[in-house]
Amino acid sequence: MSLIEKALSLAPPLRSFDGPLTEDLVREPGKFGLGAVPRQLSPDATTTAVCGYCSTGCGLNLHLRDGKAINLSADTDYPVNLGMACPKGWEALAPLDAEDRALTPLLRHRGHPEDDRAIDWQSAAETFAKRMHAVADQHGPESIAFLSTGQICTEEMALLGAFAKFGMGMVHGDGNTRQCRATAVAAYKESFGFDAPPYTYADFEKSDVIVLIGSNLCIAHPIMWQRVLRNPHSPEIVVIDPRKTETAMQATCHLALAPKSDLMLLYGLARRLIEIGAIDGNFVHQHTNGYAEFAGHVAQFSPADITAATGLPETELNDLAEVIASGQRVSFWWTMGVNQSHEATRTAQAIINLALMTGNIGRPGTGANSITGQCNAMGSRLFSNTTNLLGGHDFLNADHREKVAHTIGIDVDRIPDRNSLAYDQIIDAIDAGKIKALWVIANNGSHSWIDSKRFNRILGKLDFLVVQDLYTTTETAEHADLILPAAGWGEKDGTLINSERRIGLVKKVRRAPGQALADFSIFRLLADAYGRGCPEMFAEWKTPEDVFQILKRLSHGQPCDISGITEYQMIDNCGGIQWPLPEGSFPASPQRRLFEDRQFYTEDGRARFCFDQPRPNPEPVDRDYPLCLITGRGSSAQWHTETRTGKSAVLKKLAPRRTFLDIHPKDAAALGIAVGDRIEIRSRRARIEVHARLT
Ligand code: SF4
Repeated sequence: MSLIEKALSLAPPLRSFDGPLTEDLVREPGKFGLGAVPRQLSPDATTTAVCGYCSTGCGLNLHLRDGKAINLSADTDYPVNLGMACPKGWEALAPLDAEDRALTPLLRHRGHPEDDRAIDWQSAAETFAKRMHAVADQHGPESIAFLSTGQICTEEMALLGAFAKFGMGMVHGDGNTRQCRATAVAAYKESFGFDAPPYTYADFEKSDVIVLIGSNLCIAHPIMWQRVLRNPHSPEIVVIDPRKTETAMQATCHLALAPKSDLMLLYGLARRLIEIGAIDGNFVHQHTNGYAEFAGHVAQFSPADITAATGLPETELNDLAEVIASGQRVSFWWTMGVNQSHEATRTAQAIINLALMTGNIGRPGTGANSITGQCNAMGSRLFSNTTNLLGGHDFLNADHREKVAHTIGIDVDRIPDRNSLAYDQIIDAIDAGKIKALWVIANNGSHSWIDSKRFNRILGKLDFLVVQDLYTTTETAEHADLILPAAGWGEKDGTLINSERRIGLVKKVRRAPGQALADFSIFRLLADAYGRGCPEMFAEWKTPEDVFQILKRLSHGQPCDISGITEYQMIDNCGGIQWPLPEGSFPASPQRRLFEDRQFYTEDGRARFCFDQPRPNPEPVDRDYPLCLITGRGSSAQWHTETRTGKSAVLKKLAPRRTFLDIHPKDAAALGIAVGDRIEIRSRRARIEVHARLT
């Protein structure tokens, strides 16, 4: 059977090029018990899926006509969003109809789009295999790499990671989740023993004190903010952010600290909490390690030191300590303002330390809670085979390698015994001429990577660049030698894992246009073409649900154990399922949090206080660059590099028409800048023209 016939056999042609619609995965609206029975989908029925943009993971109803989704609404019964959705969710179908969808595989001559040549899948797969073989055979397996994403389904990530590393022999493959959350992962691993965000969204409604650090929840996670607004306890809402964000404007207390002084503030806060006796001694004594050393560490940070670093008066620090001390259920939340910053891991751990020392963990309305960015950032962390070996395992651990090899039936020598280079190190390795072929999946680094000018220059050094995406027009696709057209959300099946560890289903409710294929089908096709044992290795990995069953086995015994989820239908029936769910168990509640038993994932079951001496910002303001620029999301209608949201006329109307800079009136006056002025911002790396907003 030819490759193209195989592709078609994955997809009965009468239904679609890319597999059947998922009519058997329909939930009776309003039923989340096991009693809910799948029913046959009529062509004009409504089915459900979780949103494929952000990590909130809202449930959507998809309304079909003639078997195709033509509209959607927010799912009133889904425990995440309770009938709400943000503009991106409401417009989730629009980007699928964009005119620049990639319809066929394309051979591209870099810089000459007029010479693009459409080819069929058989030729595309053969080109991929031939050119990857050529590079790997000449320069070794470390000369080929992939950069993936937090936007595709977990099963797709797992197949990609397994094919690339166990099949193709790659050592290096990472995802863009590295950019948003690697620091929080490192913090949790060291403090809790596993990458384990402990909360459930119901905690937003149960806290009497909510502390948001580096998080503009109103804009970046608007449905989570709606959960805060549903809190019936009139909570104190504390926002720690240099900028007076939309969230800060709604807060009961805003600490407008100097940029990058949060670690100092949090250490000073810990010292103050100790001074006023706001410590849960029993919890600290029974369930943690390292408190005495931590208390000794923070004793050095006097109120005067904190004021000097943060610009905040001592009274604000003391008032915040009193608010936390008086709270019965205090929850601490952070996101990119912490994650994407200098000393981010230690800052995240300083937040975790506050929760531990005050006993605010493992109870309703509490927690040290990192909020993720992408819809499947957690799927990527646990199952993409990039930083973790499949199932939250460790490439460096021989027992883990044996377990994974045994579980999926491969020779253990196929599993790398060292970690991949990280995203930035992969870029450096391309620059150094060590990596010569790169496969980019659903990831637009040419736009989003820090110092994109350098990134794009470096892409030019590659012998072979493959870009797999929905669109031919992304900035990264401009540099590609081969473009593989992918199906998008709504055009394929699989699962995503949201910020609160909830696994949700996405479903195929549209046919992908042209010859575009689900990423899953593309990976299978390429594995077949690659040869060298790959077709046999992935014979069992036939459908996303087959792979889900493999992932269940891989997760067995891990903190992220999902072996109790019988099949996709159970996820649908339960309104999503949070990990863990070990074999033989059933979710006792649709809202479950970790550490209610006070047992952490460290060897002795105790959480650790982790801390360090603050280090100066390596790139402080100076005479040539006298202002500090921090960045944030402009609106709820925009996502990442706008490859999708930019295709919706509605979202474009909702987003700011012009890129803007918020600047303090004093700084603006000193520079002669008035409201609305077009100004140039220059950094050590780039320049951009924007419009000024005084705040
Ligand atoms: Fe989708 Fe996130 Fe908006 Fe919910 S908040 S609808 S998951 S983009």
